[in-house]
Amino acid sequence: MVELSDRDLSRYSRHILLDEIDIAGQQALLASRVLMIGAGGLGAAAALYLAAAGVGSLVICDDDSVDLTNLQRQIIHQQSRLGWNKAESAVAQLRDINPDISLLALPHRLEGSALLEQVQLADVVLDCSDNFPTRHQINAACVATKTPLVSGAAVRFHGQLAVFDPASQATTGCYHCLFPAEGDNQDGPCALFGVFSPLVGIIGCSQAAEALKLLLHLPSKQRGRLGRYDGIAGEWRYVNLHADPTCPVCGTKP
Ligand SMILES: [Zn+2]
Repeated sequence: MVELSDRDLSRYSRHILLDEIDIAGQQALLASRVLMIGAGGLGAAAALYLAAAGVGSLVICDDDSVDLTNLQRQIIHQQSRLGWNKAESAVAQLRDINPDISLLALPHRLEGSALLEQVQLADVVLDCSDNFPTRHQINAACVATKTPLVSGAAVRFHGQLAVFDPASQATTGCYHCLFPAEGDNQDGPCALFGVFSPLVGIIGCSQAAEALKLLLHLPSKQRGRLGRYDGIAGEWRYVNLHADPTCPVCGTKP
């Protein structure tokens, strides 16, 4: 177990006051490793909370660079870091908030065995990416390594949140069961369709909350269901997820 220093006890005191977390929970967070794919709008919000909350090791992967059009919602980046790689910009910001945790920027696209290796090392993976091919690669790596996956998406005024827990995979399935790769699901990139600024924060913060609860072994109704957030109505709706036995990623039937 991670020994808490006096500075840790002070920094995380408002967590330690919570019976559901306490010292043992904070030690568990500090001993954990989270992989985040994407440091855009979702990743910005999620990373700020995960780092502040004391996730001991945070790996942030993004091959994109900070652009002026990002600053309307990607609150981890700043005007002074335009042109920086997003993973490196995010880590620079997080170091200012919490220099006591391990922060690793991967400023390139993670694919194949490199992706599998990083997913294997992680206790929880956050999919904060913005395209289906990446989402399916992350899902396949999470299923292969039995790593919990917290998936988020946001475009226009519509947000989505789903938590895929290996413990319930046999009944609730994986990301591919929900959005088959061969389907015509297109999540519109924000560059084409626009996105409401705080929407990415609502979804990204929800991803951070679900990731922390997984690490703390706290229960959540969000596992095994898809939450859809309507940013105009300000309303969440939920559908339960079901495993597809013929799913090529997690299925048991050919
Ligand atoms: Zn599946």
